[in-house]
Amino acid sequence: MEDCLFCKIIKGEIPSNKVYEDDDVFAFSDINPQAPIHILVVPKKHIESAAKLEKEDEELVGKIFMVIKKIAEEKGFANDGFRVINNCGKKAGQTVKHLHFHILAGKDLGEKII
Ligand code: AMP
Ligand code: ZN
Repeated sequence: MEDCLFCKIIKGEIPSNKVYEDDDVFAFSDINPQAPIHILVVPKKHIESAAKLEKEDEELVGKIFMVIKKIAEEKGFANDGFRVINNCGKKAGQTVKHLHFHILAGKDLGEKII
C-alpha cells in the first residue's frame, strides 16, 4: 500500500527504531511510548486490521505472537509480564490502518480495561 505509514516504515522509507525483522514480521519502537517499553509488531503484508484477516493469514498471526514472545525474552520482560493490545477499527481508536500489535512493558501497567 503506497500511502500506508507502516508499509513505508517496513520498506525503510520512513525511519524507525527497528527491534526485529524477518521475512514476514517487522517490529519497531512506538514513536509515542505509553510505557517504558512500547513496541509495535506488524506483518510485512499490508492487512488493514484484524477484521480484514483472511484464512490464509492464520499462520502469519501465529508467527507474530511467536515474535512477541521472542522479543519479550530477548528484552528481558517475559517473566515480569507485559500487555499485548490490538486496536481494530474506528470504535477501538485504530489510527494506522495496517494491522499492528502493541507490546507494553517495563512498569506496572495498572488498571485493566477487561
Ligand atoms: P493505533 O492507535 O492502535 O492505531 O496505534 C498506532 C500507533 O502508531 C500509535 O501508538 C502511534 O504512536 C504509533 N506511531 C505513529 N506513527 C509512528 C511512527 N512514525 N513510528 C512509530 N510509531 C508510530
Ligand atoms: Zn501497510
